[in-house]
Amino acid sequence: MIVVMRRDASEQDIQHMIKEVELANLKPTVLRGTERTVIAVIGDERRMASIGALESGPGVDEVLTVLAPYKVASRETKSEPTIVTAGTLTVGGGRLGIIAGPCGVESEEQIISAARAIKKSGATALRGGAFKPRTSPYSFQGMKEAGLRLLAKAREETGLPVVTEVVTSEDVPLVAEYADVLQVGARNMQNYRLLEAVGRVTRPVLLKRGPSATIDEFLLAAEYILDAGNQQVMLCERGIRTFETHTRFTLPLASVPYLQAKTHLPVVIDPSHGTGHTSLVPAMARAAIAAGADGIIVEVHPNPEKALSDGYQSLNFQQFEEMMAGCRRVAAAMEMQLA
Ligand code: PEP
Ligand code: MN
Repeated sequence: MIVVMRRDASEQDIQHMIKEVELANLKPTVLRGTERTVIAVIGDERRMASIGALESGPGVDEVLTVLAPYKVASRETKSEPTIVTAGTLTVGGGRLGIIAGPCGVESEEQIISAARAIKKSGATALRGGAFKPRTSPYSFQGMKEAGLRLLAKAREETGLPVVTEVVTSEDVPLVAEYADVLQVGARNMQNYRLLEAVGRVTRPVLLKRGPSATIDEFLLAAEYILDAGNQQVMLCERGIRTFETHTRFTLPLASVPYLQAKTHLPVVIDPSHGTGHTSLVPAMARAAIAAGADGIIVEVHPNPEKALSDGYQSLNFQQFEEMMAGCRRVAAAMEMQLA
């Protein structure tokens, strides 16, 4: 951290800041220039809870941070990639995870047929929401616990691990009883009590980026889970809100190499929510793998036209089969292993 003093800062102001830094158990080095004085601070500035508040100190112009605000999630802390596993799903370290299934669990027939079809086409995990956070209170809210039971049944039938969303911290024990991977949805990325709750269980977590969250905010959300003790975290880029209206969200694939440079956590791309249009999903799935993604999560429904949620962005079984053929070719070119 560097504390830049104002031109008119007095010696008393400088001494005051030195004392503040020492009080935080950090080491100040005063550099006196001809124009102004700066205080270079050695030590982990992240341990200083009120770092921003220093800027309001007497004679201070600005406080520049040097370290990334997240710590456990950072590549600086752990250089080797984190590999997340749950049954047949492996994500990271050169292994590509393919999570597929309907947006929401709607019936036994729907989830079992989807699980069978996606397995046949090469998916390594089944997705399906039992608790659905919907923009409108009048939209389908999910089958809740009955949906969780159907997901468990689909796992029994196919052997595929189950990825499903948990929307409140009180539901974490219940969802963790049935799910292999807990999904924290985009709308909940900054629900810090929920992040702490999923951080305390021994289930991998798929954390989705909030549509208006910056990458630093996204990584700090992951930091909550890691800090609570759970190291099995996957980051999911699912598109952000921009001025563009042709796609439901804007899918920034630059997030893949950028996140991989900043963190050891694996990166999963969601081309379904990222585009909001069935026809755009296969190309963005291939592009995600070409960009180096560690996994993809795709919505697949036996009959998208009749889906109770997100039918407009869901693939039918045939479309998923074709998408997988394209993904396999790109994965091979990228030397990614697809189970
Ligand atoms: C979902 O995966 O169905 C979902 C609700 O996604 P998101 O949280 O990214 O909107
Ligand atoms: Mn959905």
